[in-house]
Amino acid sequence: MESLKKYDFLIVGSGLAGSLLANELLNYGQKILVFEDPSMKSSSMVAGGMVNPVTGKYLAKTWLIEELFGLLFDYYRGLELDFKASFFHQTGLFRPFSNEESKINFLNQIEKHQLKDYIKVLEDTSGFSPHFEANLGGMFTEKAGWLDVPVMLTKIKEKLKSNDSFNTGKFDHIRLKIENEGFYYEDIFAENIIFCEGFNVINNPFFSWLPFNPVKGETLLGTIKDYEIKPIVNQGKWIMPLGGDKVRVGATYSWHELDFENTENGKEELLFNVQKVLKTEFEVTSQQAGVRPSTKDRRPILGKHPTYKNMYIFNGLGTKGVSLAPYFVKQLLDFIFQQKDINPEANIERHYALYS
Ligand SMILES: Cc1cc2nc3c(=O)[nH]c(=O)nc-3n(C[C@H](O)[C@H](O)[C@H](O)COP(=O)(O)OP(=O)(O)OC[C@H]3O[C@@H](n4cnc5c(N)ncnc54)[C@H](O)[C@@H]3O)c2cc1C
Repeated sequence: MESLKKYDFLIVGSGLAGSLLANELLNYGQKILVFEDPSMKSSSMVAGGMVNPVTGKYLAKTWLIEELFGLLFDYYRGLELDFKASFFHQTGLFRPFSNEESKINFLNQIEKHQLKDYIKVLEDTSGFSPHFEANLGGMFTEKAGWLDVPVMLTKIKEKLKSNDSFNTGKFDHIRLKIENEGFYYEDIFAENIIFCEGFNVINNPFFSWLPFNPVKGETLLGTIKDYEIKPIVNQGKWIMPLGGDKVRVGATYSWHELDFENTENGKEELLFNVQKVLKTEFEVTSQQAGVRPSTKDRRPILGKHPTYKNMYIFNGLGTKGVSLAPYFVKQLLDFIFQQKDINPEANIERHYALYS
């Protein structure tokens, strides 16, 4: 027992959830160890990374819009400064009106739901015309953009490695010994453990009882010649500029075949929708697929295990992980260190009745 390596926190998983949490814990001066199995799949590594406060055909405001969008821009810009790197792009998002009827509908929705703080109507859309049919105008959301999640996660991983806080290996739940004073795992002892396993939570014996509802998604990477449009363009599917002629097109939603395999159906669906809105040619260079860790009630799941003291989960970021993560990392840490309440809609306690 003398050679035990002691930590304040073990974190399992270094996707968006685990990495942001780990980064904050290091900043809090905690001794941590993150387990990441590179042979496992991560939703974060294929995410579009988009943030958009108002979504869908009914222009629904994102849940907790003020809280999330009041924080996330400064949060990611702060990380860019810390890491001296660029990975957050507030490009704005443009939605062209597809016909007169939808234009009238959208204008009514903007009025009815008081969306003027988030959406401006653009009459002059000539800047988009080389590539898009936008003669009827459209809507522009300034508080939108995208996070280059893999670039940010690579920076955090470098920091973890330089702090001896990164373990490249699969965490095997069966080998975890739970004692009153904390957790033993091989030659490691930690007072706390936080599971951030994304979709792989289904293999976690401590938390697999939770009501997850994973959603597969696919995107296409490719090029559009002479593409100089800076905002994301969204009409059913979105086209995200990645610099130069490169773009990402996304995304699909499927509740079947929950794996990370590219499909012909996914590709066809994306191409069909892009060709409806794009006047110029989109050439596909690659395709990506992943499984979003969504939940049945579409809310994240965070907090403590019903039985085991100091065992936590941070998961269920679903389709909007980039918007949700900064706010809920803070909620979880305030809960752990200051016993502050977690938003009841996100608190794991709402599911305790399912635990047996
Ligand atoms: C196609 C697609 C497009 C998306 N687009 C967007 C978007 O535009 N905007 C947005 O906000 N969100 C988007 N998302 C969702 C976003 O990816 C997720 O909300 C978020 O990345 C989830 O992060 P996570 O850390 O919870 O899970 P993950 O990223 O899946 O990370 C979990 C990590 O845990 C590791 N792990 C699991 N079990 C173990 C174990 N036993 N031992 C060691 N390591 C383990 C895995 O290897 C993995 O790295 C998209 C997702 C997909 C699939």
